[in-house]
Amino acid sequence: MDVAELTRALAGEVVLPDDPGYDVARRGFNALVDRRPAVIARCLGAADVAAAFAFAAGNGLEIAVRGGGHNPAGHCVLDDGLVIDLSRMRTVKVDADARIARAPGGSTWLDFDTATQAAGLVTPGGIVGSTGVCGLTLGGGIGHLTAQFGLTCDNLVGAELVTPGGSVVEADEELLWALRGGGGNFGVATRLDFRLHPLERVVGGLLTYTGKGVRDAFRTFRDVVADAPQDLSCQAVLGVDEALAPVLVVIPCYTGTASDPEELRALRSAPGLIDDGVRERPFAEQQSLVDSPYGENRHYWKGHFVNELPDELVDELLGRVVALGRPPGDVLIESLHGAPKDFDESALGYRTAAFNVSAMATWDDPALDAEHIAWARETAAAVQPWAVSGGYANYMQADEPIERVRAAFGAEAFERLQALKRRYDPGNVLRRNQNIPPLA
Ligand SMILES: Cc1cc2nc3c(=O)[nH]c(=O)nc-3n(C[C@H](O)[C@H](O)[C@H](O)COP(=O)(O)OP(=O)(O)OC[C@H]3O[C@@H](n4cnc5c(N)ncnc54)[C@H](O)[C@@H]3O)c2cc1C
Repeated sequence: MDVAELTRALAGEVVLPDDPGYDVARRGFNALVDRRPAVIARCLGAADVAAAFAFAAGNGLEIAVRGGGHNPAGHCVLDDGLVIDLSRMRTVKVDADARIARAPGGSTWLDFDTATQAAGLVTPGGIVGSTGVCGLTLGGGIGHLTAQFGLTCDNLVGAELVTPGGSVVEADEELLWALRGGGGNFGVATRLDFRLHPLERVVGGLLTYTGKGVRDAFRTFRDVVADAPQDLSCQAVLGVDEALAPVLVVIPCYTGTASDPEELRALRSAPGLIDDGVRERPFAEQQSLVDSPYGENRHYWKGHFVNELPDELVDELLGRVVALGRPPGDVLIESLHGAPKDFDESALGYRTAAFNVSAMATWDDPALDAEHIAWARETAAAVQPWAVSGGYANYMQADEPIERVRAAFGAEAFERLQALKRRYDPGNVLRRNQNIPPLA
């Protein structure tokens, strides 16, 4: 098959290097990644994906799969190969009676929330609207409703996949188990189905702390989530202000009936609080509290799961966030308390951890690449003594060793994943990801 035949075979379109839309089509979230694919196949369904696989095999091209383009590793784009671009497959369908949403391969969380909130329903997803539903789910999924309803992948109940061999597969229980964290290793998901929960209003917003109060507020955040009920999710972001002094932003999301939840009072009265944006609001508003410009900044992320956040680690992080001498980006601390502990139908090992702590270097000047990358690595190294359960695939860069991927599952689950990889992708065609090599 040549390019003209591929173009005719697709219901979608082919974008080539000389086409006017090429530079936009090859752009991902992370400006650190700048690659030039030979062909971008903008697919509209399973038949298009199968045709793209056949074209790549026939022409000896490597493949990348693009959903929302957010993965910091930049796995969604490659030099000289073929991109299976799902970004035109966006229409989420909701069956309100069955409480199921069907999300096509390229839908984003904004697409998903808009469709499900119209029926007063949710699933726990990502906190930035342009992030891909499928990419996030296949790596786990932590967000504003994790304590209430579990990881995003815990709510995955069905999937349609196209394998590199061109078969269209409706996932059975074993494949669903693998998809809950095993990434894009087994095929291209043209549709994922999710369980939905009724929810329209939350008590949430941003709590911002500066000055001497930051350390105490950080410790209060830790203590509040340790005792938090399942109806309170909470994340924290440590950064610096213009004077390069630490700033802490705590982002609670409470779904109980109270309008002034008792569980949040310690945080809302902590010294150093300079802005209390917490109030009753529609869930859709909570989902737009945090945003990040697409394709503009350079990113390098590295982190660890931990079982505790002792004062010693709090002090390490407060020191690290000012260590660069310029704004380094953030340290994100996501609590995994509550519902993630109730599920075990997934390959993931890290759900037993207390927190996911991630150094997220963000900058725009290419001359500062080495400095920021070193900051993220050194900050993650400072967390390392408390690390458990490997790394979080959704935030990993491409340079992570396979041991970190393996450790996120544990040896037994990893071997089971490798056996499934051999069944669905024996040639490891889908290897531009947090890779699970097929069992030998
Ligand atoms: C600004 C920002 C906010 C984020 N917020 C959150 C958050 O709140 N919670 C969280 O858990 N993570 C979050 N993430 C991380 C995010 O979940 C991962 O980076 C995820 O991989 C992004 O998926 P994507 O489809 O957007 O990315 P892409 O780069 O398009 O895809 C990443 C990889 O996922 C696989 N993939 C994607 N779609 C498919 C598909 N349909 N079929 C098969 N494989 C597929 C492919 O291997 C692909 O290379 C965030 C990332 C960013 C940059």
